[in-house]
Amino acid sequence: MTVQSVSVLLPGGAPGPFDYAKGGHDLKRGDVVSVPLGRREVTGVVWGPGTGEVGHNRLKSVSGLIDLPKLPDLICDFVDWMAGYTVSPKGNVLALALRSAEAGPGKTKLLFRRGALEPARMTPARQKVLAAAADGLARSMAEWAEMAGVSTATVKGLIEAGALEGVEVPLFRAPPDPDPEHMHLLLSPAQRGVADDLIAALDGGFSATLLDGVTGSGKTETYFEAVAEVLRRGGQALILLPEIALTHQFMDRFEARFGCRPCEYHSDVKGPERSRVWRAASDGTARVVVGARSSLFLPYADLKLIIVDEEHDSAFKQEEGVIYHARDMAVMRARMGDFPIVMASATPSLETWVNANQGRYRHLTLPARFGAAVMPDVQLIDLRRDKPPSQRFLSPPLEAAIEETLQRKEQTLLFLNRRGYAPLNICHECGHRIECPNCSAWLVEHRFRSKLTCHHCGYERAKPHSCPQCGTANSIASSGPGVERIAEEVTHLWPEARVAIASSDVLHGPKQTQEALASMAEGGIDILIGTQIVAKGHNFPNLTLVGVVDADLGLSGGDPRARERTFQLLHQVAGRAGRAEKPGRALLQTHQPEDRLMQAIAAGDRDAFLTLEAEDRERLGFPPFGRFAALVLSSPDEPLLEAYARDLAAAAPLAEGCTVWGPAPALMARLRGRTRLRFLVKTQRNFRIQDFVREWLAALPPPGKVRLNVDIDPQSFL
Ligand code: ADP
Ligand code: ZN
Repeated sequence: MTVQSVSVLLPGGAPGPFDYAKGGHDLKRGDVVSVPLGRREVTGVVWGPGTGEVGHNRLKSVSGLIDLPKLPDLICDFVDWMAGYTVSPKGNVLALALRSAEAGPGKTKLLFRRGALEPARMTPARQKVLAAAADGLARSMAEWAEMAGVSTATVKGLIEAGALEGVEVPLFRAPPDPDPEHMHLLLSPAQRGVADDLIAALDGGFSATLLDGVTGSGKTETYFEAVAEVLRRGGQALILLPEIALTHQFMDRFEARFGCRPCEYHSDVKGPERSRVWRAASDGTARVVVGARSSLFLPYADLKLIIVDEEHDSAFKQEEGVIYHARDMAVMRARMGDFPIVMASATPSLETWVNANQGRYRHLTLPARFGAAVMPDVQLIDLRRDKPPSQRFLSPPLEAAIEETLQRKEQTLLFLNRRGYAPLNICHECGHRIECPNCSAWLVEHRFRSKLTCHHCGYERAKPHSCPQCGTANSIASSGPGVERIAEEVTHLWPEARVAIASSDVLHGPKQTQEALASMAEGGIDILIGTQIVAKGHNFPNLTLVGVVDADLGLSGGDPRARERTFQLLHQVAGRAGRAEKPGRALLQTHQPEDRLMQAIAAGDRDAFLTLEAEDRERLGFPPFGRFAALVLSSPDEPLLEAYARDLAAAAPLAEGCTVWGPAPALMARLRGRTRLRFLVKTQRNFRIQDFVREWLAALPPPGKVRLNVDIDPQSFL
């Protein structure tokens, strides 16, 4: 007799799936089950028929079905595909899809309301409960006890006496339905045209669209029209945002248009709320989900549209665990579900822009800001000519512009993408630079905390009085500016001005930063000094001057995407000025005003920049004209790491159209006490880069003390 078996995939890094006997259960692909593994019971998902590789006599049985909705076939297929694409264990990808499910208990809970009987014995405590129960509402035992100020034993007594009766209620209330007709804006003709195109795409199966328009042109309002149409048709929509900080503001925006908040899903959404959204996605009651990367893996019953807002944002790239780009995975998810995906940006990634230009993606544009707002006037300040005074960082023209802006009672934003006081401390006797003992990085000075800190591993020390190398006393000097140092300069120049810092720092944490940003919006701040967290999403009506302290920052280093990212950031920051009625200007301090990137920013000519960048990349065979995969090897044991890397280099298969570089020290050659080496695989565009990497690694798996990360389509070369 043959035992019927199934293969069960377990979330996590273990190989698998594993075979189990059905144990009398009726099991289909996607069923969530409990299975024995060693001495434990673990949760897994039925992945298909058994492979028959394990003898029947040794086959263990599935213990039972778990009270969770089955994963839709499409999700299982998506997990399979994504594991293949990212060269990751399937179980690790499955974990993304199951993460919030497990926290969820059953579908109903037991509550109590006033029953038919009177208790035989009445006490004052019992009386309090029954008085409260006159409202007829059902509550948990703990809620009754708290409400009436009595012990749970009292409540139990009333239940036993039949004075309170139990009712089963659904554990989760269904989320409210967004109303597509709640509010209509009168769209401009250009906006209407774009909205109609997006709506028409809903009838066409899979398509990918770049929604390309300057900040403030109404991209959000127009894609909301497509979301409204999905709601009318009864489907579900997903809006992916790059950062949690942006979700908060987005919720209000959504509520204004649709009358209620959508389901929110990201790593800050915890416990029962996570499970609630997971179930609501799976039974279709979550009509619209707004979230970060992880919301892509919810088990949607009927997903009909994905929007990726700020599609160029590097925060969509998950750099740990399963390494993936949520935008690229979302495109595949849409393809598998046969529905449209819309990628919105004012500064599209080069990949998406090239795809749109070559006709693989549709390209819709909104050319102008909505209403009276105009794009700011951008000027370059040549730091070689207009030098700031010694030990200062604001050049005379920028200083004058800030002065004028203060006179007019308007606001200034000074942008510098560097936390802390100074990025480097250096001995002026011997030139020694103070480095992190665990990472290849300099320690950053934070003056408010009077500490030198590593931004990679968190190592901290006091600023030394004498040089650790040559011993000279009082020789260690702060070099270069961070936002704290700019604040010091500004306060010195304009002691009366109201100044605040917004940065993602321990001292200026998320709360202080939110407060600073809110205060800026209300006019409570004259000069705001911020890192990149001020670059996106915020609207400051009275902000008319943006000063970029160091426009060249970010251009050095060997990263092929550095220029693209710098352009996006500078464009976005400059765009903060003059978003309301008043015209704005942006002044960029640079040492290389003739660089075409600076020229393009000043001229507001994004496409000129992208065209030339694309030509460079095509010539070099860089993405999107060729493909990259990075292998990063790290270990605390350097000799072991080097030996393995040498063996791996020797084992690289030979293939036409494929070059392997390395091993070379990674850009962060040491990180958190581990040495890091990197291989880079560069191939032609149509090369099956994943197969190559799989074949290569299969021949030589890493020893236990070496960690190996595969990054397909790497975004940064850290
Ligand atoms: P984007 O997403 O391109 O940055 P938004 O959709 O956020 O642009 O629009 C910018 C601002 O202009 C928002 O405050 C929005 O409500 C407003 N807006 C855009 N289009 C209209 C319109 N047709 N009628 C009224 N306000 C609009
Ligand atoms: Zn460190």
